[in-house]
Amino acid sequence: MRTARWGRVARLLTTLAVVLLVGAGAVAASELVHPRSFAEAVPVAEADAPAVASSAPPAPVPSEPAVAVPVPPPAFDRGLRSIDDPNSAWVVVNKLRPLQPLGYAPADLVDVGGGMHLRAEAAQAIAALRAEAAAAGVDIEVQSAYRSFEYQQGLFGNATARFGVAGAELRSARPGYSEHQTGLAVDVGGGGCDIERCFGDTAEGRWVVANAHRWGFLVRYPAGSEPITGYQYEPWHLRYVGPELATEMHATGVATLEEFFGLPPAPGYAAG
Ligand SMILES: [Zn+2]
Repeated sequence: MRTARWGRVARLLTTLAVVLLVGAGAVAASELVHPRSFAEAVPVAEADAPAVASSAPPAPVPSEPAVAVPVPPPAFDRGLRSIDDPNSAWVVVNKLRPLQPLGYAPADLVDVGGGMHLRAEAAQAIAALRAEAAAAGVDIEVQSAYRSFEYQQGLFGNATARFGVAGAELRSARPGYSEHQTGLAVDVGGGGCDIERCFGDTAEGRWVVANAHRWGFLVRYPAGSEPITGYQYEPWHLRYVGPELATEMHATGVATLEEFFGLPPAPGYAAG
């Protein structure tokens, strides 16, 4: 009898406990709902924030701290483009670095007038350079641009007949070794001096030295660099390398691609 009554009490207590547990579970579950729905609301608010900010006037910029630590500009990445690939705007061609393949011809030549052609990027750049020069009263003319392997062969042959091999090699490149074959080199003239040293002393020549880098051009064979480039001073010969590299070289005062990329000087062709 006593046992049976305790048994009923125990069942009652068990039932009560189950009711309490279920109730507590329900409370816990209801508590979970709120934090979750709150958490879901936050990203929506954040996602909306930029749209609101873009249409609203810019927030006031907090004033600079009194002691600002200067942040150095990121170092120029010299490995960004290939100096070996003839299709790269950074390709370095000299008497030790022929085009590979030797008979390379660009696929994107564009007419720049007068029956001359340059690769599309260089053609666009020389047109923009000439337009800005003209606006400053400086008339820059294109005298020579892309030259094919075959054309260079004829040019070099003529120079050899006239000056001998040594003389020809100072004035003209062997076929396969000319920057003009890349479609990125252009000879300019103006001021009454075309493809002559005197171009460097004209207003046009001085404008080119001061400004050509802004459109991505270098005076590729500067005065005094013959032991490095293998070519006499050619103030008229511009080489397109793109504004990033040309501006970096202009700003750092590095005169030649050989020096900039740490390449060996190329005063002459390799023996044999
Ligand atoms: Zn040239």
